[in-house]
Amino acid sequence: MAKIIQNHKDCIGCGTCVILCPKFWEISDDGKAILKGAVKKENGDLELEIDEIGCNKDTEDACPVKVIKIE
Ligand code: SF4
Repeated sequence: MAKIIQNHKDCIGCGTCVILCPKFWEISDDGKAILKGAVKKENGDLELEIDEIGCNKDTEDACPVKVIKIE
């Protein structure tokens, strides 16, 4: 089990995560990426628990502003 966390507020909407891992990421109406099916926390972060990290590992490394964390 893994948890993906995105600091949505600080996303710059570059689209890298969407290109690398479109199964999990898409650009939302606010121009920033969202994690499909994620829960929005009180601080604005998006969180999603998944069985397999899969392509999300690449997104954590590639995000230019490091707003994606995998625990
Ligand atoms: S790679 Fe990072 S900054 Fe770029 S859209 Fe995804 S979460 Fe936002």
